[in-house]
Amino acid sequence: MLEAAIKPQLDQYLQLMEGDVVLRVSAGEDNVSNEMLELVNELASMSSRISVERATLERTPSFSVNRPSEETGIVFAGIPLGHEFTSLVLALLQVSGRAPKVDADTIKQIQSIEGTYHFESYISLSCHNCPDVVQALNVMSVLNPNITHTMIDGAAFKDEVEAKEIMAVPTVFLNSESFGNGRMSLEEILAKLGTGPDASAFSDKDPYDVLVVGGGPAGASAAVYAARKGIRTGIIAERFGGQVMDTMGIENFIGTAYTEGPKLVASLEEHVKEYGIDIMNLQRAKRLEKNDLVEIELDNGAVLKSKSVILSTGARWRNVNVPGEAEFKNKGVAYCPHCDGPLFEGKRVAVIGGGNSGIEAAIDLAGIVKHVTVLEFAPELKADQVLQDRLHSLPNVTVITNAQTTEITGTDKVNGISYVSRETNESHHVELEGVFVQIGLVPNTDWLDSVERNNFGEIVVDRHGATNVPGVFAAGDCTNSAYKQIIISMGSGATAALGAFDYMIRN
Ligand SMILES: Cc1cc2nc3c(=O)[nH]c(=O)nc-3n(C[C@H](O)[C@H](O)[C@H](O)COP(=O)(O)OP(=O)(O)OC[C@H]3O[C@@H](n4cnc5c(N)ncnc54)[C@H](O)[C@@H]3O)c2cc1C
Repeated sequence: MLEAAIKPQLDQYLQLMEGDVVLRVSAGEDNVSNEMLELVNELASMSSRISVERATLERTPSFSVNRPSEETGIVFAGIPLGHEFTSLVLALLQVSGRAPKVDADTIKQIQSIEGTYHFESYISLSCHNCPDVVQALNVMSVLNPNITHTMIDGAAFKDEVEAKEIMAVPTVFLNSESFGNGRMSLEEILAKLGTGPDASAFSDKDPYDVLVVGGGPAGASAAVYAARKGIRTGIIAERFGGQVMDTMGIENFIGTAYTEGPKLVASLEEHVKEYGIDIMNLQRAKRLEKNDLVEIELDNGAVLKSKSVILSTGARWRNVNVPGEAEFKNKGVAYCPHCDGPLFEGKRVAVIGGGNSGIEAAIDLAGIVKHVTVLEFAPELKADQVLQDRLHSLPNVTVITNAQTTEITGTDKVNGISYVSRETNESHHVELEGVFVQIGLVPNTDWLDSVERNNFGEIVVDRHGATNVPGVFAAGDCTNSAYKQIIISMGSGATAALGAFDYMIRN
């Protein structure tokens, strides 16, 4: 069942197991059960530390990963191959006694969680965002006996997915209540459980020389450039990594022919940590005030002070703001084609937006779904010609230009989209099951008032990255830079840090 090519590497990992692991298997007569049995038996044949027992679990086919004398609460329902194979290998190692790669504070935080927490994560094997969530919840189960986690492959449990109306992965339930969607790191899950630090944890922080707000490529670059000047640097990030965490393949990060978002974020974090920068992840800034020092207030009420601040809060998906969008979010309205495309296999979808991201999404989706309708507001598509040519070569795509989307319709989930033709003023309705909104990004600057912004909400900066507020600089996608790219954000982060340093030595 396992490809010959991965066996030698798997063999090496299994040799790292520190204790015995029992796989308790709930299998029926169906094909998926047979394949699952084949997988667990193959694993057992590769390591004397793994044994297999038959059992009756809540779902069939599924198997739990346990210590000989203790259930860990980790269950895989379906076959964890594809992107989830790593989750299975890590679960085997961690249950066997190998410590997860998590810092000591986080381990303490997990171990101190009281109460009973049963997580269920619905995933697809092609989802690149899902393993982070599965692995984080498995680590929590390994470290705390009050926490259990079942990973459920949506393709193997289609009825359950339909009944729960799951139209985006990963979707996580906690004690049968909806807990969250999309990629979540271990720290984010812990913050959502309310185990994060309160304002008192920040009260003894001395003022910074440079405080960076935002932990994407712009913020990481600004922090490294500032810290390399030997000055006290801090970084506040709602989610370290920013948009790069949601990016699959990156082919234009010069000097690296191909990388993937989470991999690049891991190396950004490693680089930032080299310089003793105070990283305050999962913290959101909500107010900026310039007094003697610049003050930044966090959502939890803490106020941090700094001689200079670099704003690098990036951007988020732009909403189309029509009736039905908010109501059917994750019930047929989606923003990430890489993540959620597989859930629409064989179905009909629309892509709103004819720019590069919209047309890339339409091309991607056309390979999975039955039909794609592209709705573009302007008289023509804005995407690069090479993408348009590829799109027009596909048999299952319809392009409608001059189309103003007026409503996403549905009852409990999406069943269609309505638009008005801007040429004829006629209204039209297309029946379909999914809508992907791809109309660009909006800068995360709504929380700022004293800092000058343009009509698009972008922070206006000069060539040193300085804003209109003395001591406040900005960089990356939240600014009025002409283009929004990783390498451009990093460059502007460096400019803003050097600008801030210059400002400090002059003042
Ligand atoms: C799906 C996708 C694919 C892409 N592919 C590519 C590609 O292949 N190549 C390329 O060059 N570019 C690509 N881009 C664009 C690239 O990701 C962005 O240009 C880049 O990430 C911008 O970096 P940034 O640091 O300015 O902002 P972001 O990456 O948006 O980071 C912003 C940071 O600020 C934080 N933040 C926001 N508000 C607050 C607040 N109030 N308080 C604290 N923190 C806050 C966020 O949590 C995050 O840490 C892609 C973008 C997307 C969405």
